[in-house]
Amino acid sequence: MQHLPLPVTAAGDEAVVNELAEDAFWAPHVADWIAAYRTYQAGGGSPFAVSPHNFGAGVGSRQYSLFDSRGGSGELRRMRRKEGLKSCPVCGSPVTGNLDHYLPRNAYPEFAIMRANLVPACQHCNSGVKGKTIHGGNPRRFIHPYFDPWAAQPIWLVEIIPPYKAATFRPRPLPELQAPNSEIVSFHLENVLGIQFDLSMANHWSSLPGQLKMRDETLTSASVTHQVNIELILARLSKGENSWDAALLRGIASDAAAIEHLRQEAIGTVLPPMA
Ligand SMILES: [Zn+2]
Repeated sequence: MQHLPLPVTAAGDEAVVNELAEDAFWAPHVADWIAAYRTYQAGGGSPFAVSPHNFGAGVGSRQYSLFDSRGGSGELRRMRRKEGLKSCPVCGSPVTGNLDHYLPRNAYPEFAIMRANLVPACQHCNSGVKGKTIHGGNPRRFIHPYFDPWAAQPIWLVEIIPPYKAATFRPRPLPELQAPNSEIVSFHLENVLGIQFDLSMANHWSSLPGQLKMRDETLTSASVTHQVNIELILARLSKGENSWDAALLRGIASDAAAIEHLRQEAIGTVLPPMA
């Protein structure tokens, strides 16, 4: 959940298709292919604006396979290994290193190798439910890291559901987010977060009292609130505005009862001895 600059100009993406025109198999399809791509660009990749194009028997499967034959080299390899990402641009997990097709290539093989449709992501996002789910009822679709610039701002938080000693974690759009973006974020959160998210939240939550005890000798309500806000700023800086850690700390920072629970737990925590 992050806004990224487009990795290529529209002309740069179209050049890949135009080069294929030299091949007699592809030549009859190039004009329609470019037209489909321009619809994608104009509609920001929205599945409500872009319909799959039927290029005829056998063409889609070859478009689909182009990604496999080209994925390990050149520009796609550089995109997969993009440096400087603080978290997965799709789900906010701490992992990167894969590429996700924004519009899945089984439904939209014509965009399998178009870089505007390829987003750096974690393995979970590349292989998970996104591959089968394209959208919900309009306007419910996935956030597009290249075409949704509003995703550069904070867009979600994690609500801590009591009992706090055995808390569960509910991801939700920030209350101030307006429709349709709030609907888009809801759909996105419902579909990209898996079991690893729940485990990560539980781990982070249970480690916070010890961290607070380490860093805050007074453990008053005000000092714990201050520490949580510092942790939130650190998570935003180091993991990204919409990373898992930032969303959890944002939820805690807005929940006085959760902060009081952490304060009580910190008071009772016995720290391991210094080495
Ligand atoms: Zn991810």
